[in-house]
Formats: sequence, structure tokens, C-alpha cells
Amino acid sequence: MPKVEVVPLGASYDCRDDETLLAGALREGRYLRYGCRHGGCGTCRILLVEGDVEQSGSTFALTASDRADGWVLACASVPVEDCVIDVSATDLTAEEFLAGDQVRGYTAEIAEIRRLTPDVRGVRLRLLDPPSMRFTAGQFVNVEVPGTSVLRAYSMANPPSDSGHADLVVRLLPGGAFSALLEDRLAPGDRLRLYGPFGQLKVRLSHRPMIMAAGGSGLAPILSMVGDLADQQNRRQVTVFFGARSAADLYHLDRLRALQDRMPCLEIVPALSERAPAGWAGETGLVTDVIGRRFPQLEGYDAYLCGPPAMIDAATGLLTARGVRLRNIYFDAFVPTG
Ligand SMILES: Cc1cc2nc3c(=O)[nH]c(=O)nc-3n(C[C@H](O)[C@H](O)[C@H](O)COP(=O)(O)OP(=O)(O)OC[C@H]3O[C@@H](n4cnc5c(N)ncnc54)[C@H](O)[C@@H]3O)c2cc1C
Repeated sequence: MPKVEVVPLGASYDCRDDETLLAGALREGRYLRYGCRHGGCGTCRILLVEGDVEQSGSTFALTASDRADGWVLACASVPVEDCVIDVSATDLTAEEFLAGDQVRGYTAEIAEIRRLTPDVRGVRLRLLDPPSMRFTAGQFVNVEVPGTSVLRAYSMANPPSDSGHADLVVRLLPGGAFSALLEDRLAPGDRLRLYGPFGQLKVRLSHRPMIMAAGGSGLAPILSMVGDLADQQNRRQVTVFFGARSAADLYHLDRLRALQDRMPCLEIVPALSERAPAGWAGETGLVTDVIGRRFPQLEGYDAYLCGPPAMIDAATGLLTARGVRLRNIYFDAFVPTG
């Protein structure tokens, strides 16, 4: 049974054979930060300082250079010998590690399902039991597909000040285990089980101006973060790029614009990659091209990215080429959790 030493916490636990670093910690009543548990979200990204692990499942959230630098995903790494892991990057305290898993289950009622675009629905969930959730803007919940134990990750679009709700933005996928139910099977009044909150995407304290870029349903965590910044009377400059194919695919611009009234340093840049209607006053092209045109130089900026993996990759390339430090780029890739 491999022993896992956790630095800098001065703690340790045992993993059973074939058990991942995360599964072993949770079974022993300990806690490591985690999210999707499928190698997709990167919440459980830690450094392997000593020992060796075998990879189990997807490690989408790691780049080749991350792996070369010793980063592993706790949810997808099975120790094959005694290991030392460094969890500093997850901001985990010894108290949190020892307290075990505080993620809770919630029963929620669907308050509203709103058609935001032809293939995106806004799902407002009212939390019943417990009736509120403490979360950080940018985090997500795992929603249980009714009648199964299948989980799907969705980011909250509401700010933490609205703690009695989880406002989701869900893109419909043909045959999607969860999303397809929103077309005709789920309705207001139906109940759902949620687990959370998860994820480490959050606005980091700094004085740097921020670029935020969303693609498709990726606007959800950005709305939550901008809403929270408005609640905090933020004065940092924030530019939100929202990329969609056509004007019909844009949504919640009214919500973003309402936030501008409370946060004058907020700029909103919708961008259409396909058809722009006559008289379109916004930008055209891929969201990365638009950022590139608007900001030839981005040294000293923080960047927050949410959306499909291809968008995150392209945006990261552009931002680093324009001077943003890799460590100042934060993202949630909406990888399939199925
Ligand atoms: C941290 C995190 C946060 C997320 N937040 C959101 C969110 O706020 N809103 C949101 O809509 N989604 C979000 N997702 C993705 C979401 O969890 C589901 O993966 C997605 O909704 C598909 O679930 P489904 O059950 O409807 O479809 P599934 O049954 O999982 O898939 C149905 C079919 O569609 C394919 N498919 C799955 N995803 C995609 C895709 N992105 N593009 C094309 N084909 C695909 C599958 O391969 C399959 O063939 C997030 C994912 C992560 C990891």
C-alpha cells in the first residue's frame, strides 16, 4: 500500500493498490481539492515531488510541458510506490486536508428554464435543502442526471451574493445525457440533486487589469465573476470578450450591460465569427482575432478564459504572445464530463 506524504502540510495517508491519489485521500477521510474527477478541470493539479504514478484516464487539463515539470492530476494518478506530493498550488491548508471532504449534496427545484439561444438554455435552480450554498464566483456544481448516478459539471452564472440559487447556462447537445432533457423532459417544479461547489477558477487579487474571454456557454462563470466584482465595487479595468457564431447565439448581454451601470470600468465586446447582421456595431471574427486586434500588447494583464478547449488553447497562445504571463492566465475548459 503506497504511502503518500503531503507537503507543505506535514501530513500523509495511504493509497490502496489501484486507487488514485484523490480516491485514497477521500477514503481516509482527508481532503484534496478536486472538481470533475475526470481529468478535465485541473482543480486537482499538484506537483509530484518524489515517487512514481501511473496515469488512469484522461489528463486533458495537463499540457506536455506540465507533465515534464512534474505536474499530475490527483484524480487520474495511481501511485505505484511511496510518493511525496506538493499541494501548494491548490491553496489547501492543513485544516482543510484534515477536515475531509466538505463538498455537500443539495436538493434543488427548477425555478425556470429559459431559451437563451437556439441551443442554449438558462436553468435557474432554487436550492431547497440545504437552502443556500457558499461558493466563490467562477465555481461549478455537478448535477446528477435524474434517475442515474451520472454527473455533469455546470458553472454558476449568478454571483455568490445570490446564494439561494444556482443559475446555469447549458448548451444543448443532441442525445446529451443531461442537456437533452431540458428540451422536453425537465420542467419548472422538477427536482434535481447537485453536488458542490467545485473548482478553483476565481478572480485573483491583484491590481492588474483583466481580460475575460468566453465562448458559447462559457459566459456563465464570467457572468458570476463580473457580478461579484460589481458587488465588491471593483475599480480594476475589465474587458469581457464574448464570442458567438451569429447574433442569435449571443445571450445575457442585457445582464452584462446592467453590470456596467455599477462598474464603469467594465467593457463588453461581443464578437460574431460567422454572419454579422446588417448594422452590426460589434466586432467580427474569432474571439482570439478580436482580442489580438484590440490589444497589440497585453503585458501586465490577468486573463480569465472559459469555453471549449480549442478556444482556451488558441486564446492562451495569443495572450502569451502578447505578453500575458502564463501564470496569470486562469481558465475552465468545458471538456465533456461524459
Ligand atoms: C469544469 C466544467 C464546467 C462546465 N460548465 C459547463 C457550463 O456551464 N455549461 C455547459 O453547457 N457545459 C459545461 N460543461 C460541460 C458539461 O459538464 C457537459 O459535459 C456537457 O453539458 C455535455 O453533457 P450532456 O450530458 O448533455 O452530454 P453527453 O451525454 O455527455 O454527450 C452527448 C454527446 O455530445 C458530445 N459532446 C459532449 N460535449 C461536447 C462539446 N462540448 N462539444 C461537442 N460535442 C460534445 C459527446 O461526446 C456525446 O457524443 C462543463 C464542464 C466542466 C469540466
